[in-house]
Amino acid sequence: MSQLPLRAQLASALGRTAATLSRATGRGDGSVIGGRVGLMLEPDLLRKLAADRKLVLVSATNGKTTTTRLITSALQELGDVATNAFGANMPAGHVSALAAAKDAPYGVLEVDEKYLPEVLDTTGAGVVCLMNLSRDQMDRAGEIWLLAQKWRRALSGKPAHVIANCDDPLVTWGASTAARVTWVAAGQRWREDSWCCPECGGPLDRSASGAAWACRECTFHRPEPNWVLDGEDVIDPRGARWRLDIQLPGEANRSNAAMALAVAETFWVDPARALPRLRMVTSVAGRYTMVERDGRALRLLLAKNPAGWLEAFDVADPALPIILSVNAQGPDGRDTSWLWDIDYRILADRPVFVTGERRLDLALRLAVAGVPFQLCDSFQQTMALVPLGRVDVIANYTAFQQIRAEFGRAV
Ligand SMILES: [Zn+2]
Repeated sequence: MSQLPLRAQLASALGRTAATLSRATGRGDGSVIGGRVGLMLEPDLLRKLAADRKLVLVSATNGKTTTTRLITSALQELGDVATNAFGANMPAGHVSALAAAKDAPYGVLEVDEKYLPEVLDTTGAGVVCLMNLSRDQMDRAGEIWLLAQKWRRALSGKPAHVIANCDDPLVTWGASTAARVTWVAAGQRWREDSWCCPECGGPLDRSASGAAWACRECTFHRPEPNWVLDGEDVIDPRGARWRLDIQLPGEANRSNAAMALAVAETFWVDPARALPRLRMVTSVAGRYTMVERDGRALRLLLAKNPAGWLEAFDVADPALPIILSVNAQGPDGRDTSWLWDIDYRILADRPVFVTGERRLDLALRLAVAGVPFQLCDSFQQTMALVPLGRVDVIANYTAFQQIRAEFGRAV
């Protein structure tokens, strides 16, 4: 990237210095502050840093950090890959990621759903990976429909090759204006936001297996998939079946891996080469990590919204006690009414411990669902109460970060 104009080089170097200072003073990993400083000095910095690289943008409501990590791992088969590994998924985070790996010929960037049009315009990325859209915190169906509509406009008339999950009707609609789409049947666990056709508002019918869907009133229907996630396996476009055997747990991660395989193949990295790389990923930004203290081994699961909670329930071990921690600070969204959208009855037969700032909201919800629980005023108190041995923890964003900080972020 030494061809960068002097001003961009300077902005990029100063941004890196700011990031280093931020880390040194314990103010986080610095990926946002560094990018902000860079963009202030050179507003066109992201475009300049993106030029001459092969970029993948990854967007969805859930799983973008993990999928970004899996794709990065697969593309490292080819060479250095710049990536925003810490989930700083807006332009300042992208600037930091690209500036930090200025000679990497490849880049895989997690992108906030709302920023996708802007980041696609700015970077001219060649590949876009779209996985799912569902309500997040206060968002409701109408808002995610508007988001999908913005994706349609952004993709229309661009050369980008889109890899999209055709089991999600809204994602399918959002991706279908792209010039070239590879469809992946990657599954959809949360369906409460896709009862209506995004094209005409008519009812969507599902096939008996639940896989295919079609509008009853217009021609909108699930496209024929090129890749199919089938239980533990992925079937590639040639019909070959590959056992995933990844270390990240649960169906949601198999879905993320299926998307990553399809993206890797656009770079001519076939599953035989990509899969061993996906299997090397064991935890992502602290997720799925085990931490130990006082005879308890905690496995940390992050769940930020109703779809995320379903995924976490799928991963959690029914034989183990579980800690649930919910906060309502800025990044979590202040409104926790989404807690009522989740079915908690699956937890009824295991010891449940409830903590976090919104423990009373969650406690009321569990009481209504008939799930027994113990209420804990603090995480320390929770740790004292949970039995010795393995424990699962589901926490939303800031609650998750607090628990990581509790363990010195050694995860
Ligand atoms: Zn329709």
